[in-house]
Amino acid sequence: MAIRVQPKLIDELVLYGAEDVQNCYHCGNCSAVCPHTDAVFNFPRKPMRHLQMGLEERLQSSLEPWLCYYCGQCSTQCPRGAEPGETMMSLRRWLTARYDFTGIASLFYRSWKAEVLAIGIVALLTAIGFFTFGFLQGDIHTYDGPDAFLPSSSVHIFDWAMAWVLFALLMMNVIRMWWFTTASRENLRVPVWSYLKHLYLLPLHFFTQKRYGLCEHKGPWRLHLVLVLSYVTMLVLIMFFLHQMQSGPSIVWPAHGFGYLASIGLLITVIYALRGRFKKTQVHMKHSHESDWIFIVMLLLVTVTGIVQHVLHRTGADLPANVAYVAHMMFVVPMLVLEVPFSKWSHLAYRPMAMYLGEVHRDALRHAETVSKEKTMQPVS
Ligand code: SF4
Ligand code: SF4
Repeated sequence: MAIRVQPKLIDELVLYGAEDVQNCYHCGNCSAVCPHTDAVFNFPRKPMRHLQMGLEERLQSSLEPWLCYYCGQCSTQCPRGAEPGETMMSLRRWLTARYDFTGIASLFYRSWKAEVLAIGIVALLTAIGFFTFGFLQGDIHTYDGPDAFLPSSSVHIFDWAMAWVLFALLMMNVIRMWWFTTASRENLRVPVWSYLKHLYLLPLHFFTQKRYGLCEHKGPWRLHLVLVLSYVTMLVLIMFFLHQMQSGPSIVWPAHGFGYLASIGLLITVIYALRGRFKKTQVHMKHSHESDWIFIVMLLLVTVTGIVQHVLHRTGADLPANVAYVAHMMFVVPMLVLEVPFSKWSHLAYRPMAMYLGEVHRDALRHAETVSKEKTMQPVS
């Protein structure tokens, strides 16, 4: 099959954050120091080469960018300043745009103004919707109980509807990822049992990012773990215990206690990320794409407004608490609706999927080798 070359691919990747890729002269230092590379998934030198050659389809079908955790060791060792770590990061952004069938991810990564505008519009619609609903059926001076401005039962229905839409969008993109990287590859025949055997890797890597721990410095992995666990805790509380979370003003410790822990976790990680990106002392935070800033700022706003709303309600200030609740939702809704399927947060699905498909690919290669050996051992008739 003919290989299609896209000469402008490097220029396109610049929009996704790639820098100085042309400086690479393929010494291989980066791949030698990377703790995640091996004979089957060889990076970052190989993707650098494919990028220089404009091999768009090869890159689109590759899992390697997702196997990189951006520890930055390769960038530190590169004698040419070709920034392989940042190139892998930019490839993840580019792949996110490729998997997204709507084209929205591509638009957001290429234009931060479009993303900010979309966030503004969704925030405004959220405010209009919540205030209208609140004034039509409740009392803005009441936070909880029969006359509540935003009753937890109604917000609960809204949350679940949003969750299902997001899940459906993300699943469509995950299916496209599987198609590009696995199903459409003619030279890769995956035994069905292999898909079942490795299913456990999806939750394992989602919750632990286990392979991140292979990097030389464990700090970023631990912080990432805190971020994911805090986020998942908050998600479980909101999806299954919203009534207890919104009740009060007395504190319901079994629910709110976990909420406090998750809020502290989110605050710590967000402050660490902001400080790191401003100071640029760590190699993986030296380069910040606009989407990185948008993500951190949104996460900070969601966390801070959530805390403010909670404190106001606990102190009996129901009217300001209701206003703060709407302000909180003005950040939560765009954060979820735009960031999860179309931007940085989609990584939470793609990375575990890549770990899973990586093992599936290894099985396929082993299977192909066994079949080929058996064929050569058959007597010639
Ligand atoms: S990115 Fe740097 S270290 Fe890696 S192969 Fe190219 S020149 Fe060598
Ligand atoms: S940033 Fe770290 S994990 Fe990623 S390719 Fe470089 S050395 Fe490997």
